[in-house]
Order: sequence, then structure tokens, then C-alpha cells
Amino acid sequence: MVIECKHVWNYISEYLDRTLDAATRDTVQRHLEHCEICSAILDSTRNILVLTADDRVFELPLGFSERLHSRLEQEFTKDPPLRPA
Ligand SMILES: [Zn+2]
Repeated sequence: MVIECKHVWNYISEYLDRTLDAATRDTVQRHLEHCEICSAILDSTRNILVLTADDRVFELPLGFSERLHSRLEQEFTKDPPLRPA
């Protein structure tokens, strides 16, 4: 099973919570191994979780994931960098 980055983003919090089933977790894991974007997102998500891990209720600011996702959409739809001819 091959999944796209968008799907990985949906799975990241469950991935970190270890609530994904083994097959999905495996697929996400494999994607993360070769995708810099998703592994960067995983790292920053994990950092946020670590920072907020002590007893406090973990709440993302309203609209956080929407903003994150639309930022990512922008990155993906950007023109590819110019290459020397
Ligand atoms: Zn990816």
C-alpha cells in the first residue's frame, strides 16, 4: 500500500499516539523514511507534544491543523525550482 503525504498528515497524531493498526503504522513508517516533508512534520508535531506533555491538556490552537495543511498545500503546488538548462 502506498499512501500520499496528505494521508500521512492525517495519521501523524495517531502514529505518535500509537493507536494506528500495525499495517497502517508500517505504511506510514515507510513513507516517513523517504519523505523529508512528512518526517519534518512528524518531528515538529512530536516537539509540540513533548513541550505540552506534562499533565496539561494538549490543545492545538484553533485552526492550527488547517493552517498547517494549507501551508503544506502551498508548498506542494509551488512551481518547481528552476534548474540550470
Ligand atoms: Zn510525505
